[in-house]
Amino acid sequence: MERINTQYLEEIRCKIVPKPERNTKTIIGGGENYGKRPLFVGHGTGLRRYSCGNCNLVLTDNVGENIRLVNIVLKCPECQSYNQLPA
Ligand SMILES: [Zn+2]
Repeated sequence: MERINTQYLEEIRCKIVPKPERNTKTIIGGGENYGKRPLFVGHGTGLRRYSCGNCNLVLTDNVGENIRLVNIVLKCPECQSYNQLPA
């Protein structure tokens, strides 16, 4: 997949957390056979990239610096770890 804008401010490694209790967090994951690609890609300015705290796979890309991803846990499609985004 080609991306036009490859500029980003910083790469942030997420913190690995245990599987969240039911109905406490929104879990975003790719499911089986999703492959090694970001779970979502934003269109912000002042871009951040969040990577898996375990295997370093990029989980989200092009996230605007003012975007707050609260109460969201990203399940890594590669290693199945639960990644907490920094608040
Ligand atoms: Zn991972």
